Amino acid sequence: MADATFYYTGTRRCKVSLKKWGFLKDDDVNCVCGTEPQTMEHLLRCPLLEQTCNPEGLAEYNDVAKECVQLWQKHSI
Ligand SMILES: [Zn+2]
Repeated sequence: MADATFYYTGTRRCKVSLKKWGFLKDDDVNCVCGTEPQTMEHLLRCPLLEQTCNPEGLAEYNDVAKECVQLWQKHSI
């Protein structure tokens, strides 16, 4: 699962970044939870997560980070 960490921390695959880089065709950068634009910061504290994550946890890929990544995958984020 180390690939997942690289995937999310290395590429910062959030809609706001995708939009900035021109990879997102539509103008909807809101997260699937519908509360905020989907920035990387938002992904770590998205209300869909059972526990909020932080960049340190993601770097270590601890248990909380694993749950976040699983939820992102479940919601196709
Ligand atoms: Zn969200």
